[in-house]
Amino acid sequence: MLTVNAYAAPSATAPLVKTTIERRDVGAKDVLIEIKYSGVCHSDIHTVRGEWGPIAYPQVVGHEIVGIVTEVGSEVSLHKVGDRVGVGCMVNSCRECVNCLAGMQNYCLAGNTQTYTSVDRDGTVTQGGYSTHIVVVEDFVLKVPESIPFEAAAPLLCAGITTFSPLAHWNAGPGKKVAVVGMGGLGHMAVKIAHAMGAEVTVLSQSLSKQDDGIRFGADHYYATSDPATFDTLANEFDLIINTVSAPVDLQAYLSLLRLDGTMVNVGAPAEPLPISVFGLMGNRRSYAASGIGSIGETQEMLDFCAEHGIAPETELIAVDYINEAYERVLASDVRYRFVIDVATLA
Ligand SMILES: [Zn+2]
Ligand SMILES: [Zn+2]
Repeated sequence: MLTVNAYAAPSATAPLVKTTIERRDVGAKDVLIEIKYSGVCHSDIHTVRGEWGPIAYPQVVGHEIVGIVTEVGSEVSLHKVGDRVGVGCMVNSCRECVNCLAGMQNYCLAGNTQTYTSVDRDGTVTQGGYSTHIVVVEDFVLKVPESIPFEAAAPLLCAGITTFSPLAHWNAGPGKKVAVVGMGGLGHMAVKIAHAMGAEVTVLSQSLSKQDDGIRFGADHYYATSDPATFDTLANEFDLIINTVSAPVDLQAYLSLLRLDGTMVNVGAPAEPLPISVFGLMGNRRSYAASGIGSIGETQEMLDFCAEHGIAPETELIAVDYINEAYERVLASDVRYRFVIDVATLA
């Protein structure tokens, strides 16, 4: 076992504090990663505060991890010491179910092993990226292309793949009109990726306060959802709507913006059920769907796509002891657009 520095939540209500955790010995198929940067996802906050159900404490979160391989097991063939690698929201899956066999580990029927709060194969609870090292089985480790700045690469492992997967699945591309709802960590990546895919991109944000950023990231149009006229102007307009907002929205209003055979996809997950009118779907044969992160294959494809198109998240680098303040700023939507922890400050 390796004892490493980490920042953990001691309870649902206490601030995160510095501590140490144990990482397992490097198994035959494992790689040991020295973590360099760790992104701060809104999910981290929901999780440590027990808002998505009770968890065991202390708990280390963080599932946007990049670092350098410092040791590999005897049977590892995909990575070598010195490689730039990443780890996202999952670190294993059952490998036997129909979805795993189809390469869709994120939809593992037994539930994928999450990077934090999951019970791992050895019975321990997984601990995330706010730490100096992590041990992960080699085929859940991604290759981070050299051309993506390392600290900017971290948020791709959750915010990037969570938006790339539905954009690719629902064929965002030339000739397609894509709307992105919300301009936060996920939304700003959805704009950059959809634009790079060749789609015509519209941002639907609460206000116009981030309009200049949205246009700079590649949006062709930008509307405020607080203005009711927006929903009249854009009726029957979009092939695809990616909703990154985790709070409940008026689904009927958004569905009315879909053209024939258009689809609205939630990547934000409101805790409460949302009412939906079947008539709203029947008009224009619309679909309403949801999408959760992406497979390992899609994640690698996304990293390579971002390298090829020169796109990366907008980040604000922080020292680890700023994390509790950073959480309050995430909750206040006061970050453009993703906090990333410089893990050197945890050494
Ligand atoms: Zn996340
Ligand atoms: Zn499975």
